[in-house]
Amino acid sequence: MNFELSEDQRILRQAVREFAEKEITPNAKYYDEKAIYPWDILKKAAKLGYVAPDIPENYGGSNLDLVSCVIITEEFCRADSSVGSAIATASLGCPMIKYFGSDEQKERYLTRVTSGKTPSAIAITEPDAGSDVAAMKTRAEKTDGGWIINGSKTFITNGSISEWVVVLAKTNPELGYKGISAFVVEKEWDGFEARPIKKMGLNCHDTAELFFKNLFVPENNLVGTENAGFYQLMRFFNESRIGVAAAQLGMAEGAYERALNYAKQRKTFGRALIDHQAIQFKLADMFTSIEAAKLLVYKAAWLVDKGEANPALSSAAKLYASETAVKVTYEAVQIFGGYGYSKESEVERFFRDARAGTIYEGTSEIQRMVIARFLAGKIKF
Ligand SMILES: Cc1cc2nc3c(=O)[nH]c(=O)nc-3n(C[C@H](O)[C@H](O)[C@H](O)COP(=O)(O)OP(=O)(O)OC[C@H]3O[C@@H](n4cnc5c(N)ncnc54)[C@H](O)[C@@H]3O)c2cc1C
Repeated sequence: MNFELSEDQRILRQAVREFAEKEITPNAKYYDEKAIYPWDILKKAAKLGYVAPDIPENYGGSNLDLVSCVIITEEFCRADSSVGSAIATASLGCPMIKYFGSDEQKERYLTRVTSGKTPSAIAITEPDAGSDVAAMKTRAEKTDGGWIINGSKTFITNGSISEWVVVLAKTNPELGYKGISAFVVEKEWDGFEARPIKKMGLNCHDTAELFFKNLFVPENNLVGTENAGFYQLMRFFNESRIGVAAAQLGMAEGAYERALNYAKQRKTFGRALIDHQAIQFKLADMFTSIEAAKLLVYKAAWLVDKGEANPALSSAAKLYASETAVKVTYEAVQIFGGYGYSKESEVERFFRDARAGTIYEGTSEIQRMVIARFLAGKIKF
């Protein structure tokens, strides 16, 4: 492996870091406590080309490679776990349109996200089908000029605020996972309802249940080919899992840096915390896990940029970075002591927010299953 950041990527990191430390960190507590979506920060980030930055320039994006997108997400989430990840996940629904959508769909939907007008969403999970995607029941049936969708989805990020959502539905239920298709639907259409869900953390994220009652979707809003939805999703996950891994890496770094600074300042028994061996060992382990996660995340992204995407490595990066974020944020709270448990400390928020990372975009158990299938020679790429 011969990987290093380019000059442009290093400059990008510096610029994103300055933006994130100025706009995200100081406002994070406000958005967390009020539990409102950071619209104004989304718009400012979009102006600089940091929202859905991989989208081509003719649809308002910055046409960046995945390594550069990882840098942006990492820096956003290092600045704050909640607001940073809210801005990074504004692009969630875009890759399905970017890779499989028509020119008309790209023009109509991607430009609204890159301009900061709306975040986007992708709805896969259902009340009875999470890890087992193929068990979804939401049904799309053909009708004159389009499709009628009935069913429901749950835990959909940006589900109640996004102007549009990519919805996965069964078009041929008898074909199992080979009978799933993707549609792009608009929030204002008749038959679309959304209900926000209250969560443990990520308070400024919108996470919603969606209900579709005889929702008419025009023919032109099928994304890509009928019945190809499952295969499209596999391609989507290859990159989206690296995106989640980058967010979790950033959260781990943010919590670690705050804990390190605190350990240098806080004194107990006449010495700084960092001079106690028990605290030194925690910080050493945190540092080591973060460095290992970084290598995995950047290697997985670099391979995608070279056209050599490796689903097992994407899963390994997501698995390791999200488990690292949970452990590191846990230890950060411990190093802060009682202050770490209070709402006055930032690490309290990082700890709550990081917890979701081992669940969404495929749980840690599902990532291990993907890696094991690859080891057994059952996944080819
Ligand atoms: C904050 C948040 C945001 C989310 N955003 C989105 C979104 O934008 N779009 C979307 O579609 N979904 C989203 N999700 C849903 C998320 O992807 C699912 O929660 C996740 O895939 C797990 O599905 P489940 O909750 O139904 O759990 P289940 O599938 O019911 O799993 C329960 C537990 O059993 C384990 N398990 C399941 N099957 C196996 C097995 N075969 N072997 C071993 N263990 C197994 C799981 O790992 C888990 O620990 C979000 C979730 C959260 C919490």
